[in-house]
Amino acid sequence: MALLAVLAIVVVVVGFTGRAARWPADAYLVTGQATTEPPQLRECPADAPLPGARAEVRPPPGGWPGVPQAVSVFNVFGGEVRLEYAGRVLCGHMHDARTRDSRFRAGVGMVIVPQAGSQEPVVAYWSPPLKPGWIPTIRVGAPSEVQHVDTLRLVVRTACLAVALVLAATALMAYPGSRDWTFLGYALLCALSVVWQGMLSGLVGYPEPWLPVVGHEQRWFVGLSCAGLGAMLCGMWLLVAGPGLDALVRRRMVLATFVSWLAATVFALLAPEAWLSSTAVGVELAFRLVYLAILGWALQRLWHHQYGAIPALAAMAPFAAIAVLERAGSRLLLEYRVEAIQLSITWFLAVSAYALNLRLGRLRRQRDEMQQLAETDSLTGLPNRRAGLRRLDELFARARQHGAPLSVAFVDIDHFKSINDEYGHEAGDRVLMAAAEALRGAVRGPVEAARMGGEEFLVLLPGVGAHAAVQRMEALRGRLAAQGSGLRMDGLVLTASIGVASLQAGDADAAALLRRADGAMYVAKRSGRDQVQLATG
Ligand code: GH3
Ligand code: MG
Ligand code: MG
Repeated sequence: MALLAVLAIVVVVVGFTGRAARWPADAYLVTGQATTEPPQLRECPADAPLPGARAEVRPPPGGWPGVPQAVSVFNVFGGEVRLEYAGRVLCGHMHDARTRDSRFRAGVGMVIVPQAGSQEPVVAYWSPPLKPGWIPTIRVGAPSEVQHVDTLRLVVRTACLAVALVLAATALMAYPGSRDWTFLGYALLCALSVVWQGMLSGLVGYPEPWLPVVGHEQRWFVGLSCAGLGAMLCGMWLLVAGPGLDALVRRRMVLATFVSWLAATVFALLAPEAWLSSTAVGVELAFRLVYLAILGWALQRLWHHQYGAIPALAAMAPFAAIAVLERAGSRLLLEYRVEAIQLSITWFLAVSAYALNLRLGRLRRQRDEMQQLAETDSLTGLPNRRAGLRRLDELFARARQHGAPLSVAFVDIDHFKSINDEYGHEAGDRVLMAAAEALRGAVRGPVEAARMGGEEFLVLLPGVGAHAAVQRMEALRGRLAAQGSGLRMDGLVLTASIGVASLQAGDADAAALLRRADGAMYVAKRSGRDQVQLATG
């Protein structure tokens, strides 16, 4: 390892300081090699059946301009496309991104070179879409113009994928610290959305198909859409439910959604070809119904001033907007449907990440509170035995490391049993609280006095030598007495026997120090109580 590090440093130093390679002015670089890949746009087999839908793309009124024209047919759904012009017939697969010049959108295209003024139309055939309304776009124009829009599409589409990947990675990183399964679920949702978006955007076919979709793309499209929509519905339930809802109800709803959508996904992936279209329509309808149920519930929560539902409403809003635009027959939606869906998914994931962050904060606060509770003595509010001993270990290690002094004092209230007997247990408790108050005044930090149990306390004095520690404890006796008389309990004299020990070279661990302080406290008891004793030896 060290050798590798040295090697790396040498390479970097030499790289930065050495002379750079010199290239002659006419140097150039050749990359790649001759291709053996057959063209993806192919001659159509003579006996191939014509795809079901047909359109004629007519030239402008004066006939075609005499320059090359790009004609492309795009659609999200796959299927065969056939283009005919001037006796030239080309076939391609809608989902294979390689079948077009600009490869950032699934579709099939050809470049025609019409004679100026020619009136001959381009005829396009394609497989009818699975879902009504998901019509294809036929685009005519200069290839550069098509590419311009496609570049923009590519930026949006790949950015959405990148965001989902980053969010998944962040959620995975948050899991080990939180041990909260929601983060894993969220990462899974992001990962699923990446594959789904890849399918939607045609990126699964770019630059080569990397999902086994060619020939089965409609099935994959329906299956992945089903899985993605189901996962998002689960996310929506969780978002709306927030922390307030009964955990069992929440789990049941998420589980029911998860199981039914998993079943629907498996069905879509296995169903006979003839059922795919109705499955796609059914999936969308089911999504809308469950969506409306969740929306209604979120609005009801808002009505009852439960503002935790706001992130859920915000996350869900774009899906409603898409449905409304679809109803209105928006042209923009027809043209940019994939981008609209991808941006909605990304927005949903981002808002969910925000809600997840809030959850992480809440979990951290809860954990801190639990830790605080587990380490605090409920009667006096002082750190308890566990916290006191842990702090002692820390201070011991630090004192050892820096060679600094450290003293500890064991404080045991005198005749406490008789106080209980004489004034009652409750009064005894008040005495303990008063003693804790006196201790708080005697130390600097919040965790440098602890209740070790019963009427015994530990005082930690980092940086304080034996002599000063004894002085501080003498002062504590005064404070105890003052607190005791402040209680106005007739005849009560609050005193304690205190044993002090300071760190010595021979102390193997903090326990040795503690034992000596305890021993000194017993010496104080035996010597008549109400005094401070310094451990010797
Ligand atoms: P000594 O001077 O030798 O220390 O005698 P002591 O009576 O103080 O010591 P002993 O250990 O005999 O009695 C401690 C008593 O503290 C016994 C127990 O009932 C009482 N005690 C322990 N915890 C509590 C508590 O939280 N509240 C009250 N009121 N009493 C407690
Ligand atoms: Mg005791
Ligand atoms: Mg006692």
